Amino acid sequence: MRTDKKNVQVIEFIAVGSELLSSSFLETNSLFLAEKLEQIGLNLTFKTVVSDRWAELQQVIRTARERSQIIFLSGGLGPTEDDRTKEVLARVLRRRLIFKPELLERIKKRFASRGLVMPASNKKQAYLVEGAETLENPNGTAPGQWLETGGKIFVLLPGPPPEFKPMVENLVLPRLENLSQKKVIKAFFKITGVGESWVEDRLKEIYQLLPPYLELTILASPGDIQVILSLKIESPNQEAKRVEELEKIKAEISRLLGDKIYAFEPKTLEQVVAEKLIKLKKTIATAESCSGGFLAHRLTNIPGSSNYFKLGLVTYSNEAKIKLLGVPKTLIDLKGAVSAEVARAMASGLLKRAKVDLAVAITGIAGPGGGSQKKPVGLVYLALASSNEIKVEKCHFLGTREQIKFQATQKALDMVRLKLLKLEHNSGAIKRKAS
Ligand code: AMP
Ligand code: MG
Repeated sequence: MRTDKKNVQVIEFIAVGSELLSSSFLETNSLFLAEKLEQIGLNLTFKTVVSDRWAELQQVIRTARERSQIIFLSGGLGPTEDDRTKEVLARVLRRRLIFKPELLERIKKRFASRGLVMPASNKKQAYLVEGAETLENPNGTAPGQWLETGGKIFVLLPGPPPEFKPMVENLVLPRLENLSQKKVIKAFFKITGVGESWVEDRLKEIYQLLPPYLELTILASPGDIQVILSLKIESPNQEAKRVEELEKIKAEISRLLGDKIYAFEPKTLEQVVAEKLIKLKKTIATAESCSGGFLAHRLTNIPGSSNYFKLGLVTYSNEAKIKLLGVPKTLIDLKGAVSAEVARAMASGLLKRAKVDLAVAITGIAGPGGGSQKKPVGLVYLALASSNEIKVEKCHFLGTREQIKFQATQKALDMVRLKLLKLEHNSGAIKRKAS
C-alpha cells in the first residue's frame, strides 16, 4: 500500500548514537529536519535519541512503527560494529538485508578517488533493507534508504550533519512535498536599533489585519529582532490569493518599521554591512575598547572581507588610545576614557592613520564591575568618522558582559549601515541629476 497524503499525520525522528546521549555531543539533526518540514507544512510529533545498543534501538523502532506514519532514523549507518540501524530495522520488519554490488562499487570508487583502498569493513554499507530504495549520499560512504511498507515510510539517513542536511534538502523534501499539498511561505524582517516593545507598538495595527492563515511572530534578543510572517497554504488553489495577502501585509510592515529593517531575509547585520561596503567600494577600520575586537571579528567573518576591512585595533588601555590613535592625554584626563569626546578622538585619529573611508570607535563599560553612578555598566560611546562628518552616539545597554559587547558592536554596525544607506541614496540622487 502506498502512503498517501491523508496518512501523513504523525512524523517521528529517531537519532541513533550513544554519543548523542553523552554530555559531549549535541543532537542537531532534528532541528534542521523540523525546520525543513515546517517549510512544507509538516511537523514532527515525536523525537527520540537512542543508544546504539540493539535492544533499545529495537524497542524504539517498534514503538515508532506503532504510532507514526513517517519515521526518520539518522545515524548508525557507518562501517563499524556499533552501526546497526539498518540491521535492527530489518529485524523488526522481518526483512532481509540485500547486498547491492552497485553500491559497493560506488563506495570503492569514493576511496579510490582519494588514492585509498576500501577497508573491508565498509562492505557493510552496501546492504539495503529488502524493498528499500537508495538515497545517494554525495558527501560520505553511507547511502541513505527510503522504504515504504505497510502504509509507513522509513527514511534512513547518515548522522554527520554535513551528510544529513543536503540529503534532507535535496532528496527527502521533494519526495515529501509530493505527499503533502500543504506548504508554508515565510517572510522575514530583521530589525535593529530599537527595542521589542517599540516593534510591538508599531505592529499593533497589523495584528487586526491578519487572516487566520497568516501568523506573525516576533523573536527578540538584545540588539536584534526578527519578525516572521508565516503563510499557511493548504491546497494549491489557495496559493495565489494568499500570497497576494502576504505581500500586502509585508508592504505595510515595511512602511511601519522603515529603515529599522536591515534585511528582508534571515541574514546577519555584518552580512548586510559587508554587502553594502563592497557594493559602494568603501573601506573600513575599527578601534575598539570595551568590545575587545568583537566588531573586527564580526566584520571579518564574511568571506571577501579583505575588500573592505583594512585595520582593527583593540585600544584597551589609555596608553594605546594615546599612542596608536593620537587621542590627547589631556582629553582622557579631563573627560575620562569612556566619554563622547574620547570616542570622537579615537574615530578621527583612526580615520587619519588607517586612510579608510569609514573609521569606527567604541569605548564603554562592559561590566560587571567598573561602573559608577555617573558612568554605569553598559554605558557605551560610539563614533563613526568619514571624510565629511563624525557622528557620536551614547548608548546604555543592559545585560551580561557578553550581551553588552554584542550590543555595542551591533550599534556600531548599524551606524555604518545607516551611513552607507545615506551615501547610496546621495550617489543615486547625483546620478539622477546628471542624467
Ligand atoms: P554516525 O552516522 O552514527 O556514524 O554518526 C557520526 C557522527 O555524526 C557522530 O559522532 C556525531 O558527531 C554526528 N551525528 C550523528 N547524529 C547526529 C545528530 N542527530 N545530530 C548531530 N550530530 C550527529
Ligand atoms: Mg554512530
